[in-house]
Amino acid sequence: MDAYDIVVLGGGSGSQVATAAADEGLEAAVVEPGPLGGACITRGCVPSKALIHRADVVEGVRGAEEFGVPARLEDIDYGEITASVHDTVYAKADNQESGLRDSETVTLYRGEGRFVDDRTIEIDPNDEANEADRIRGETVVIAVGSRPMVPPIDGLEDVDFLTSDDALFLEERPDELVIVGGGYIGAELGYFFGALGADVSIVGRSDQLVPREDDDVSAVVTESLETYCDVYTGYEAGSVAETDGRVTVTAEPAGEDESGDDTVELTADDLLLATGRRPNTDALDLEAAGVEADDKGYVETDERLETTAENVWALGDVVGEQPFKHAADDESKTVAANVLDDAGKTIDYEAMPHAIFTSPRVASVGRTEDELEDEGREYEAVTVPYGAAPLGMILEADDGFVKAIAAPDGEILGCHIVGPQAATLLHEVVVAMDGGGTVDDVAGPVHVHPALNEVVYAAFDDLSDAPYSTAPDWRDVS
Ligand SMILES: Cc1cc2nc3c(=O)[nH]c(=O)nc-3n(C[C@H](O)[C@H](O)[C@H](O)COP(=O)(O)OP(=O)(O)OC[C@H]3O[C@@H](n4cnc5c(N)ncnc54)[C@H](O)[C@@H]3O)c2cc1C
Repeated sequence: MDAYDIVVLGGGSGSQVATAAADEGLEAAVVEPGPLGGACITRGCVPSKALIHRADVVEGVRGAEEFGVPARLEDIDYGEITASVHDTVYAKADNQESGLRDSETVTLYRGEGRFVDDRTIEIDPNDEANEADRIRGETVVIAVGSRPMVPPIDGLEDVDFLTSDDALFLEERPDELVIVGGGYIGAELGYFFGALGADVSIVGRSDQLVPREDDDVSAVVTESLETYCDVYTGYEAGSVAETDGRVTVTAEPAGEDESGDDTVELTADDLLLATGRRPNTDALDLEAAGVEADDKGYVETDERLETTAENVWALGDVVGEQPFKHAADDESKTVAANVLDDAGKTIDYEAMPHAIFTSPRVASVGRTEDELEDEGREYEAVTVPYGAAPLGMILEADDGFVKAIAAPDGEILGCHIVGPQAATLLHEVVVAMDGGGTVDDVAGPVHVHPALNEVVYAAFDDLSDAPYSTAPDWRDVS
């Protein structure tokens, strides 16, 4: 049996721990059954955002006339769009695989790994002609990610459905699509398919789409998505049935009303389930290693990301704290520092941002107003529309805003941005929060005029007690 200093299960963010170990001269192994780079590269962040960029281009053409530039959308070659995105992301995954194979101190095993004892892994190879390998790691990192969750809906077993794993690279655009799930993946794909001309319905259980966001953010996203899709919030899919190749979803009001009066039936060519994700830990035989998981299968770790078994660490979607690529990458840095340098580094999610790539865009860090109210914390919130800054006015980003939230002593508690470039704008706030900063750390530095960051400046300037404000205010014009 081959033995390694470190064995990483999963070729997504976890593989960065293996390459860091190799850079330190250690022998590392990565076990991965699928394309290298994990969900992000071939079925998550990158292809979805590449498609959404194309939706933005289409929307740009449609909206050009508002800016005095009449333009007509002739045709959309849907198959070409998905094929070009597919080829780009798979080329990246192939390059990542070549990079690992070229490394003298990282060995790549192609197959699914599972524990047979504390740190011995059996690999069920992709190629059935090969026998199962067994390898042992002085240290093992669990980074096997997550997969779409399929909810128990009556009739689902007899119906063909899509998940985000297979909806991104369809050769033809569905004419009609029902999306079940109003979280960020459902909302992003609803925007994409809707902007490209599909007749989309979204069924979401909560009162608003993207319900985990600050209420004002969820409200704007829900209202905007209504221009691309028929939105059924407050509904859940009760049953599905397929007739003549078409799927009918029967959705009922979520919650107490069981009269059946408000039941809706939505029929479409395709059904896309975007009902959350579950960790890929069910096939890992975690008990064989003494690794504990919660009742949903998320691996339990301490703040250093070590599991309940010594020398077995976990990161990324299997930890379930912040299911985002940048969080998984940050966790991989923490694990690398703790395993390779015994750094005793603890993970800190206080300034962990996230973004949603709908139209309008969303980006957020820290607490929402609801969370602060539940915690009974004193805070002040200021909301400034994009139109307060000249560039916001020029872009006609009418529903855009920056909401800044701070404690009475000026500590930044949260920031929620809706509108163009939201994810980019948020970063000055993330940097300030990461350094334990206050509103003056954002309001104090000079902001380029007339950049969109002036909206962030204006919101934090409003919260600041510093005298002599120079924040722009074009609200009287826009
Ligand atoms: C449609 C979509 C859009 C998204 N958009 C964004 C976004 O815009 N921004 C963002 O930050 N995040 C986004 N995410 C989330 C992001 O993709 C994940 O949070 C991130 O990929 C998690 O990294 P990971 O390394 O934990 O898991 P993964 O990247 O999933 O990597 C885990 C790897 O483990 C492998 N594996 C599974 N089982 C085993 C096993 N038994 N043995 C060995 N290997 C195994 C898998 O094949 C996979 O390659 C999106 C996700 C989806 C689905």
